[in-house]
Amino acid sequence: MSHTAELIAVGTELLLGNIANTDAQMISQGLSALGITVHNHTVVGDNPERLAEALDIARRRADIIITTGGLGPTYDDLTKQTICKTFGRELELHQDILDEISAWFQSKMGKKMPENNIQQAMLPVNCTVFDNPVGTAPGCAFQEGGVHVLMLPGPPFECRYMFENRAAPYLEKLTDGVIVSHEIRIFGMGESSVEETLYEPMTRLTNPTLAPYAKPNEVMLRATAKADTPEAAEAMLRPLVAQVQDMLGDVVYGVDVGSLEEVVSALLKERDLTLSAAESCTGGLIAKRMTDLPGASAVFRGGVVSYTDAVKSGVLGVPEDVLAEYGAVSEPAARAMAEGCRKICGSDLAVSVTGVAGPDSDGRGTEVGTVFIALASGEGVICRKFSCGKGRGRDRVRTSAAQYAFDMIRRSLLGLPQEP
Ligand code: ATP
Repeated sequence: MSHTAELIAVGTELLLGNIANTDAQMISQGLSALGITVHNHTVVGDNPERLAEALDIARRRADIIITTGGLGPTYDDLTKQTICKTFGRELELHQDILDEISAWFQSKMGKKMPENNIQQAMLPVNCTVFDNPVGTAPGCAFQEGGVHVLMLPGPPFECRYMFENRAAPYLEKLTDGVIVSHEIRIFGMGESSVEETLYEPMTRLTNPTLAPYAKPNEVMLRATAKADTPEAAEAMLRPLVAQVQDMLGDVVYGVDVGSLEEVVSALLKERDLTLSAAESCTGGLIAKRMTDLPGASAVFRGGVVSYTDAVKSGVLGVPEDVLAEYGAVSEPAARAMAEGCRKICGSDLAVSVTGVAGPDSDGRGTEVGTVFIALASGEGVICRKFSCGKGRGRDRVRTSAAQYAFDMIRRSLLGLPQEP
């Protein structure tokens, strides 16, 4: 049987715009991986009447209701009481949970549990308890009148832990069979073009399904299949993933991989090659992303954050007349940066990035967001000009430029054309 879920986030801070409803985003993604359709997200303040109203509406249109927040020990944490009142359940004390909470206070806080935390050990009669080893508020779930109600804590770390480790296994049991999904990672094609290209399978398919997720500077598609066995689900997914790769071509940089740099790092390792980076507008982001990966030293030799002309010429050896004639944000400067970096770092490949992150232009009228990326290797230097995240702030220009740089390296290592 297929299920429909509604999420109700409880918290006045959410309504005031003080915080974003990231719990809902995380849970929605998790539910979609479980093959559970989410039809509504609701946000209510810390107000029992409005929460009761939202619950009444939700129970009529969904068979799974998941609430977040309001499980704490303070006067405004009313989720459990309001849910129990709405669904006609009593609350009862769970001594084992109370012992756990008081032990948590002793070991983590080094103090006696305050009296009002007793409230957190009060849970609906006959519920499934979701214990909380990463915080104090336990969550829980029960079924009433054909509706499953799950309560999760608000703090994002606790909410994620409890969703992944407690709520997801609970929900998996509600759905017959197994759910398997694969993530298809795409760079170099916008979300709307991806959707346009894949409109037919995306809208037609019900099992397996294909759903897009926008990620910063790239697109991710999740292909999900539900079947009796993992093997049967895999057999359904294989042709779909192949079809997507076929339709999108080389903008698909990986399936079930973590990031572009992870792919680049694996390719370098396979080919026994090393990389270095000369970075101006990315300010070391490429080096950071490479060194975030365990075992990076096998493939990444180092880099230079050559932010000023003095460092571009003094350290990397970019000829001063190149900088004077063409400026630092130019193809000749990018080429010389990459060549210089390759030489001083002694790497097989060197990538360089120079661009205008904004908000102001570079004094030569170069448009904000203009970035030159060069890649030097034993075979010579290639250089491309990109327009990165113009008008979306310095960080967007930087992250987008780093993505382009990693994709240039990936394309070069795979012998793919540089233009998708
Ligand atoms: P606690 O035991 O900490 O009181 P709780 O379950 O009662 O947990 P809330 O008091 O509602 O949760 O929220 C605690 C904090 O968690 C909030 O201040 C907020 O920072 C964060 N939070 C709550 N709900 C959300 C949400 N939907 N998305 C992101 N963060 C949230």
